[in-house]
Amino acid sequence: MNIVLMGPPGAGKGTQAVRIAETYGIPHISTGDIFRAAVKAGTALGAELQRYMSQGQLVPDDITIRIVHERLQQPDCAAGFLLDGFPRTIEQAVALDKTLESNPIDVVLSIEVPDEELIRRLTGRRVCQGCGATYHVDFNPPKTEGICDKCGKELQQRADDTIATVRNRLEVYNRQTEPLISYYREQGKLVSIDGSQAIDKVFQDIACHLEARQ
Ligand code: ADP
Ligand code: AMP
Repeated sequence: MNIVLMGPPGAGKGTQAVRIAETYGIPHISTGDIFRAAVKAGTALGAELQRYMSQGQLVPDDITIRIVHERLQQPDCAAGFLLDGFPRTIEQAVALDKTLESNPIDVVLSIEVPDEELIRRLTGRRVCQGCGATYHVDFNPPKTEGICDKCGKELQQRADDTIATVRNRLEVYNRQTEPLISYYREQGKLVSIDGSQAIDKVFQDIACHLEARQ
């Protein structure tokens, strides 16, 4: 199955994506993760990406579309994939439809959460520097503060999870990404998920929708 996971920053896309990818055996493709890896690698492209990401602005469509197009050509995507954080503009969605042609997106899961909850989730998010696992200081804390349960490495706050950048990212989402909800509704692919529930319950709802389609 080809799945798109949509929703504002902090909705729980990454958290649910890990579970979906594991349960259904499909690769999890997060443009945010790909871009952060490029920044960490210190490449020229990484330096350019960081200028946008640190402001909470979107990376330009031409760069983003090219990177996703290349990733989707990899053999592990042949039997399905899960896109997390892409597309984020109408131009990206149109380019994705063109890339996929005869093997289109099957379903778009839109995780919905009110803005005030998103701010709490993003400012409390902590990410493992070793394996990338995501925690929350209150809602999903590690067993030992600041240490990853899975690999024992240090947890850190993302540079763009500060209150000022978070507000900007939510504003960018409402202006540039929210119109995609109508785009996919018109294609008959949109499924709305109540993301304000507990992590396990959100996953149960997602699994229920996916299983009904298989
Ligand atoms: P996104 O990938 O959509 O930006 P994440 O999956 O990283 O969001 O989740 C943002 C933060 O909210 C993380 O700290 C995560 O642990 C927490 N979180 C995710 N889902 C829930 C939920 N259903 N209830 C409470 N906190 C959640
Ligand atoms: P995320 O990890 O999904 O929260 O994304 C982090 C940052 O990466 C965003 O604030 C953007 O700057 C950039 N980014 C991720 N995905 C995209 C995309 N599809 N289009 C443009 N920019 C993106």
